[in-house]
Amino acid sequence: MLSYDILIVGGGPSGSSCAWGLRRSGLEVAILDKQVFPRDKVCGGWITPRVLSLLEIDPVEYACRRILQPIRGFKIGCIGTSIRQEADYGKRVSYGIVRRQFDDYLIKRCEAHLHEGVGLLDLQRVAGGWIVNGKIRTRLLVGAGGHFCPVARHLGMRRAENAVVAQETEFELDAQQWTDCPVRGATPELYFCADMRGYGWCFRKGNLLNIGLGRADPHGLPEHAHTFLRFLTARDGLSQKIPAFRGHAYLLYGTSSRPIAGDGFLLVGDAAGLASPQSGEGILPAVESGLLAAEVILSANGSYGGAQLEPYARRIEERFNGVNREWAPRVGRYLPDNWLRFAATRLLGSSWFIRNVVLDRWFLHL
Ligand SMILES: Cc1cc2nc3c(=O)[nH]c(=O)nc-3n(C[C@H](O)[C@H](O)[C@H](O)COP(=O)(O)OP(=O)(O)OC[C@H]3O[C@@H](n4cnc5c(N)ncnc54)[C@H](O)[C@@H]3O)c2cc1C
Repeated sequence: MLSYDILIVGGGPSGSSCAWGLRRSGLEVAILDKQVFPRDKVCGGWITPRVLSLLEIDPVEYACRRILQPIRGFKIGCIGTSIRQEADYGKRVSYGIVRRQFDDYLIKRCEAHLHEGVGLLDLQRVAGGWIVNGKIRTRLLVGAGGHFCPVARHLGMRRAENAVVAQETEFELDAQQWTDCPVRGATPELYFCADMRGYGWCFRKGNLLNIGLGRADPHGLPEHAHTFLRFLTARDGLSQKIPAFRGHAYLLYGTSSRPIAGDGFLLVGDAAGLASPQSGEGILPAVESGLLAAEVILSANGSYGGAQLEPYARRIEERFNGVNREWAPRVGRYLPDNWLRFAATRLLGSSWFIRNVVLDRWFLHL
């Protein structure tokens, strides 16, 4: 039987960041992922600069062999209306990455033993740890398997949860599309739903175009996504053949009651339900929680009981609870539709609101 100190289930940004935080600690760390890297991940691929600084990624070195699209501004509008505002920061305020490349880069450099193409199928609690799939023994289990993380599910976290649902498609532009595409790489386009319960995006990264839509309300997502696509096509003449959308769900911080630390386990990233309530950004919280988990593991000095791991839950709360939790779509739930549409068009028509609230506060945390 293989034996590790720490087994991380899931090799997305939360799992690989945790492993990276534990590198050279003397601990035997392994990652188990059901997929083989490089693998695709349904995502817009927008990251704020803190992701790179926390992970000590040199943008120049990273961009040598991968797409790293600098973002200097945004176009913001409201689906079904002619509202369109542009905010130009005149400097780089975010990046676009391709998850297939980004996650592969992170997992390859984190120095953990990698068991890829192996899903977690069976989990048993034994004295002093866990046995995974009857083959791997570990003293501590880190659940980093995303929203449907098998560790979280094994621990009984199956309660009804109010997840954000989102769909996207990412495809390569051919030479003609490259010339015709009206979307500029440095200026992604974000369009809010008129009921303010979600937004769509159109984001050009190098030779790729990513189009998607996410909503706090799971009902009718495919219809909303197609309305958005029709809107883009009509507005921008975006006529290229667009591949089918792929979808996924995840939790915004404050909407989950999952215990994220306990006797012999920690949950990180989407498994813990940490995405930003305002923008739906999940990569930064995944990285931050992975690194925080590594810090707590190191200070636990080899004792992985509930008392030693509890500081992780406290530190996550300190970090994320202070972040303003208001999100327009939640407010939207309590207002009649016509009021919402009126309020949305007034607010999204205000360049002050777009720049100071939507972008500086909700999306860029400036
Ligand atoms: C359509 C869409 C667009 C998004 N756009 C953005 C964006 O632009 N910017 C942003 O910051 N966030 C975005 N997000 C959110 C972001 O994708 C997630 O928050 C982020 O991927 C969370 O990282 P993670 O490491 O926790 O989980 P994941 O990235 O989901 O990684 C989980 C890993 O666990 C593995 N796994 C799952 N089950 C098992 C199992 N049984 N056994 C073994 N391994 C398993 C999976 O193969 C996967 O590799 C978007 C989400 C969606 C759905």
